[in-house]
Amino acid sequence: MFYLTEQFFSIQGEGKYAGVPSYFLRTGGCNLSCPGFGATYEVDGEIRYGCDTYFAVDSAYAKSWKKVDDSRILVDRLQEEFTQIGYAPDVVITGGEPLMYHSDSVFYEVVSWLVDRGVRITFETNGTIEIDFDAFPAYKACVFALSLKLANSGEPASKRVIPQALKNLQSYSKETFLKFTIDKELVETTAFEEINEIRKILPELEVFCMPVGESRDTIWKNDRAVFEFCMKHNFRYSDRLHIRVFDTTQGV
Ligand code: SF4
Repeated sequence: MFYLTEQFFSIQGEGKYAGVPSYFLRTGGCNLSCPGFGATYEVDGEIRYGCDTYFAVDSAYAKSWKKVDDSRILVDRLQEEFTQIGYAPDVVITGGEPLMYHSDSVFYEVVSWLVDRGVRITFETNGTIEIDFDAFPAYKACVFALSLKLANSGEPASKRVIPQALKNLQSYSKETFLKFTIDKELVETTAFEEINEIRKILPELEVFCMPVGESRDTIWKNDRAVFEFCMKHNFRYSDRLHIRVFDTTQGV
C-alpha cells in the first residue's frame, strides 16, 4: 500500500528531461522535511516551514492523500489515460520521497507494469534510500534524478547525504544525474564546495542546478545567480518550467 497525492499529465519542468511530456505520480510522505526551503504554510493556526511540495510531505495533509492498495486500479487508470493521451508518455514518480515505497508490493507492481510497457520512468529522489536491485530488478530500467539537498535545506548532512545509497543507485540503475536546488545566498557561499564534496562520491555524473523557488517571484530572486554559477563551473542550468508557466498552481 502506498499514498498518492496527485497524478496528472504535464511537461517535465526541470532536470535532464525538462520539456518532455510526462505523466506524474506524486507519492505522499518524505523521510526529510527541508524546513530551509522557504515555503511557509499554516496548519491549525501554526506556521510551518518546508519545501515547495509540503502538501506531499507533511502528514497534516495525509487525509487528502489517496491510498493505493490495489495495483490493478491504478494500472487501469493509467491505461485509460494513456489511451486518451494517444501514446504512453514518460512517467515521473516524484514526491515527497517515492523510494520510501520501493519495496511495497503494490508500488512495485505498478512500476513493473510501466517498465514492461517500455515506458521511461524517472524517479525524483533525495537519494538517501538504498534499493535491493536484485530483489526488485524493474528498478534497473529506471532513471534516477538525484535531487540531493544542500545546507540550505535546513537538514543536517548526515541525513541528506548517504554515500552508500548514492553509489547503489548509480551502480545498478539505467541512468542517474545530480540535481541541486540552490539560491543566491548559497551560490555566494558554500554551493560549489558542497557540490564538490558530493561529486567526490559520484564523480562522473552530470550536474544540474536550478533556482530555489515555490513561486515565480522566488525563482526570479535566484535564477540569475544560479545561471552565472553554472556558467562558471560548467554545470547544467535547469529552469523550473512548470513554476514559470503556472506559478504556484498544483497538479500541472
Ligand atoms: S527531500 Fe524533497 S520532498 Fe522531501 S522535504 Fe526535502 S525537498 Fe521536500
